[in-house]
Order: sequence, then C-alpha cells, then structure tokens
Amino acid sequence: MNDKVIFYAADPSALAQIKSKTYRARIGGKDVEAASGKTFERRSPAHDVVVGVYPECGLVETDNAVAAAKQAFEKGPWPRMSAAEREAVIRKSAQLIRAHAKDWALVESLESGKPYAQALEEMGWAAGIWDYAAGLARHIHGETYNQLGEQTMGLVVREPLGVVALITPWNFPLLIVSQKLPFALAAGCTAVVKPSELTSGTTLLLAKALEEEAGLPAGVVNVLSGFGNPVGARLSEHPDVDMISFTGSTGVGKSVAASAAASNLKKVALELGGKNPQVIFPDADIEAALDAVLFGVYFNMGECCNSGSRILVHETIAEDFVKQLVARAKKIKVGDPLNPDVKLGAIIEPKHKLKILSHIETAQKEGAKLETGGQLMKSPCGCYIEPTIFSGVKPQMTIAREEVFGPVLSVLTFKDADEAARIVNDVAYGLSASVWSKDVDTAFKAARSFRAGTVWINTFMDGANELPFGGYRQSGLGRELGKDAALEYTEAKTIVLHLGGRSPWLN
Ligand code: NDP
Repeated sequence: MNDKVIFYAADPSALAQIKSKTYRARIGGKDVEAASGKTFERRSPAHDVVVGVYPECGLVETDNAVAAAKQAFEKGPWPRMSAAEREAVIRKSAQLIRAHAKDWALVESLESGKPYAQALEEMGWAAGIWDYAAGLARHIHGETYNQLGEQTMGLVVREPLGVVALITPWNFPLLIVSQKLPFALAAGCTAVVKPSELTSGTTLLLAKALEEEAGLPAGVVNVLSGFGNPVGARLSEHPDVDMISFTGSTGVGKSVAASAAASNLKKVALELGGKNPQVIFPDADIEAALDAVLFGVYFNMGECCNSGSRILVHETIAEDFVKQLVARAKKIKVGDPLNPDVKLGAIIEPKHKLKILSHIETAQKEGAKLETGGQLMKSPCGCYIEPTIFSGVKPQMTIAREEVFGPVLSVLTFKDADEAARIVNDVAYGLSASVWSKDVDTAFKAARSFRAGTVWINTFMDGANELPFGGYRQSGLGRELGKDAALEYTEAKTIVLHLGGRSPWLN
C-alpha cells in the first residue's frame, strides 16, 4: 500500500442521503416496464449503495422500440418538418440539459464513480454539442450541378438514413450519446438508444425531457435499459435498423459490425479503444507536458478511449521526467467522487477493477518497473486504484499495447523521431496521439508520421465540436463531431434531370 496518496473516504452521514431512483424505459412516447417484469439495480461503485433500478428490457421491448422508431420515421412529422423546426427542438434540448445539469451530474457521478465536479462540466460540454448540431441542421441541403451541359442538370439531395440504433458505454454516458443523437436528429432520423446497463440514468432522463420539455415528437427517440446481450445484439442484427453507431470495446465493436453485415448490411459507425501516446521531445515545455501527462492518463480514472495511457519520453530526459511525474502523481486526491477536492474517483465495477489489476500484474511479470501505485486503495466502501506508473516499458510488453482503461501509465523511451513514430504506430489502435516540442519542424513532422485520428501538438485531449473525432485502424470506423457529423446519418440521392429532346439509343 502506498500511504503517500491522500484518500478521501465518503462521509457516512452523506452516504445515508443517497437515494435510489426508479426508471422506466422510453418507447413510443411512453414510460414502460419490461414485459417480463424483471428489473436490475445499479450500485454506486464509490459508495456501494443502490442508486438506480431499471427495467430489464429484452427482445420484446427491443422490437417494440424499433417498431416505434420505424413508425415515427415512416409516418411521423420529424423527418418531414423543416430543418429550421428541427433546429429549434435540438436547441431547446441543449437548454434543458443545462437546466438539469446539477441533478443529472449527480446521477452520473453516483452511477459511474466519476467526480461530481467533472460530471457537471461534462453536462456543459454535452449541451454545447446539441447547440452545435442544431446549427448544422439547416446546412444539410445537398448540392446542385449546373455545369453538366445544356441538357443535364444534377441534384444531390440528402435524405435521413432512417432508424438508427445508438449503443453507448459507461464512461461518459450523456456526453457520448450527445456525440451521436443530436446529429442523427438534425438529419431527420429516428433512434433507439441502448446505454450501458451500468449508467443508463441520464439517457433515460434525457429521452423523457426531450419529449416533455423540448417538444420532440413521440417515438423519435426510444431508450432501452438492459444488457448488451440481448438488447445490443438484437439491435445490431435487426432488419429494420438502417444504421448502428457504437462506442465501446473493439471486441464488441467487431461483433456489432459482423451482425450488421450478416443481417441487412446496415451502415456501421464505430468509436472503439485506444492506446494513445504522448511523445515528449527534449525541447518541450516540460512543466506543461508533465501536467498534460497526468491529466491524460488519470482523467476519468483512465476510463477513457482517449486516455494517454503510454508516453514516449526522449531517452536523454526520461529519468528526470519520470521522477517528477511520480512526485506529482502522489499528490492526486483519490476518493469519494462527491468530495469537491477529489480528482480520481471510483473504478466502474469490481469486474473492471480485476481487469486493471491483472494488467498491473502482467506488466510486473513482463519486467516493467512499478514506480508508484499498483494497489487498491484501502477504503470502507467502493473500488479505488492508486495512480500507477510503470517505467522501463518495452514496445512489445502487453502494458504498452493493450488498453487498460484504468489509472495506469506506461513510460517508454525513444532515441529519435523515426523510432518514436515506429513505436507509436506499432499497435492495433490509432485513436489519438500527441507530440511535445517547441520546434515547429519536429512537432509537425511527428504529427504527420502518427497514424491516429487526432494528433495534438503541445496539448492533450483538447478541441472543439467543429473538429471531427474518430480512429484509424482498430480504433473505429467513421467520424463523430465536425461539420460532416450530421451527413453520416444521411443517404445521398442523385437526381438527374434531362432537358430538351432525347438523342435516340435505337436508330
Ligand atoms: P462493451 O464494449 O462491452 O460495452 C459497450 C456497450 O455495448 C454497452 O452498452 C454494452 O452493453 C453493449 N454491448 C455489450 N455486448 C454487446 C453485444 N454483443 N452487442 C451489442 N452491444 C453490446 O464495453 P465494456 O463496458 O464491457 O468495457 C470493456 C472494455 O471496453 C473496457 O475495459 C475498455 O477497454 C473498452 N471500452 C471502450 C470505450 C470507449 O469509449 N471506446 C468505452 C467503454 C469501454 P452492456 O453495458 O449492457 O454490456
């Protein structure tokens, strides 16, 4: 046990104040229970008390939700109304997220174990995405081609794709559904959403508020609480789902894509894992890089697809850099996510905690040097892992290649830019990367050589809704956010208009 990390235990009197909420699934504009009558519970991973009870939806509810979305798409007003009307509803949705931010942040903090202050910030980010998507709604207007000769005029119109299924994970519940849903709505699609069964609360609250407070017509957004199997699996293979957008593990992403292909060849968008490197050259602003490395790996307890879980430090500065990192990692306040001083909250669930601990054990067995952390924090309740750093990590070690999804940093070293690029690119993932150097040539050459969907220069996990997000290779398929995000949820239809007489084919 590393006794130098400060742990903030939950206040027992505050524990007694935590109340459980009972939820219903949302199908066709109604709150529904599972036909089987089954429910499941979520216990706060930080406090070990029940915080939510949800209907356990199964195949019946999944098929009903898809039928409701199909009906809303084929007969309802949503795909038929003007983009300006859709924009107004999406913009109101942004406002309602802001209005509910405090309550919903508490739900997310209790369900996920993330610090409340961070969850509250995420509500603001999510609302910002809805605002951005609202603005895009009126720009989905297709193109005209008037230069095809005197007799031909071409139109490319954008039509909503249809019924989309959105499957989301537990690490950023409202934020990740907000990277998908408002864009699908802007395009005129209808949706069935399956949040992670660990963190379904805010997605269910959102669906109800969208209809009751923002004026979204019934059946346009349906939300199912339930397990990946059967709900997610059924959505992936459902013949009436036209597109599936999934965020989660690469393994499940592959099975979603396989089911999509084997059923009706529905369109697939995947946002999967990462093993995101930060590469630190000797001329970097070391103070800034140290802070960004800590933020990169410990933000959201490292349970983040963008987690900067490996760093490559130039061999001439590595020893001192690690020394400083270790000293700072020990200052991170770990513990009760409801405590405003805490930066590192609870791990999502015991099964995931075991996965992280097994990565730590494997790293040691394979010869990495444990510089700090590596243990569970001693706590009367909840599941907490110390901020952990391994040095002496070699590119072939498991800890350098696989996603840990926890507060565990791997430090590798490099000799020159070519070697850094080789190590960066020699993993299955390619979600994001960063480079730290004050020299524009070094920074830009490195940025060009990294095969990743996002490369930051002298910053990490930074950006704006205008910038597309997604991965190379096994980090995913397609892009979220950015000016084309709503187009992902459309089909392009080409209309060719012939003017004047026809030159005969058959003389
Ligand atoms: P999963 O990929 O299992 O879960 C993501 C979503 O997919 C959840 O809603 C899940 O439902 C659902 N799902 C599970 N099985 C199926 C299926 N057969 N068909 C369709 N949907 C399904 O991630 P985990 O929660 O199990 O986390 C495991 C690992 O995944 C983590 O350790 C991490 O490495 C990675 N991960 C990556 C994320 C990212 O942002 N890229 C986010 C979360 C995890 P349910 O929760 O009910 O099982």
